[in-house]
Amino acid sequence: DGDRISLGRTILKFALQSRLEGDCQQRVYELSTRDGLTSLHNRRYFDEHLQVELAFARRHGSLLGLLMLDLDHFKRLNDTYGHIAGDRTLMAVAGAIGAQVRGEDMVARYGGEEIVVLVRDVPREGVTALAERLRAAVEALRVGHEGKELTVTVSIGAMVIRPVRTTTGEEMIAAADRLLYEAKSQGRNRARVTDGGSP
Ligand code: GH3
Ligand code: MG
Ligand code: MG
Repeated sequence: DGDRISLGRTILKFALQSRLEGDCQQRVYELSTRDGLTSLHNRRYFDEHLQVELAFARRHGSLLGLLMLDLDHFKRLNDTYGHIAGDRTLMAVAGAIGAQVRGEDMVARYGGEEIVVLVRDVPREGVTALAERLRAAVEALRVGHEGKELTVTVSIGAMVIRPVRTTTGEEMIAAADRLLYEAKSQGRNRARVTDGGSP
């Protein structure tokens, strides 16, 4: 117990643990990688994962897609029905999005009412279909609050790229952000998708 094994630059530590210790470590890991309200991955996990996925896509010459979702007029919902209703809505949206994506896709809470989805090797048409599916799933949600059924919509900016050596995660986020902004200014509750292609 406690031995260290080094493989190149990676150091593994062998640990004999009781079930309780194991569960506890798992819990600490979950707390550090997931968002407390929605249980989606958190921003830090997303940032790290984006680097890993970029490296993978570069090495394999595969596509990497990034969808940035932002709830429409969410401040208004909070102002009208209160923050508890807002929180409940966010949880429902997170659940609806999680249910629409594949196990290998990564969903994270990027900011307050912003959610990102990272998808591996899906062509532009696939990303377009996914964006539309996510948009429709959120639109169809009914969130119970004090006897009322609240509804909400999202705007989505989605980009797909075949990353090259110089592609950065920041560039991908900026591109998705620009498309999201277009979706907002074109009336919200819609997705704008582009193909970064290979430069
Ligand atoms: P737009 O359609 O342009 O995105 O309008 P918006 O009102 O959604 O955008 P804005 O950026 O003005 O407001 C975002 C709101 O999201 C403000 C903030 O109160 C709310 N919000 C962010 N995080 C949370 C949260 O964890 N819980 C709740 N209830 N509200 C949140
Ligand atoms: Mg926002
Ligand atoms: Mg918003």
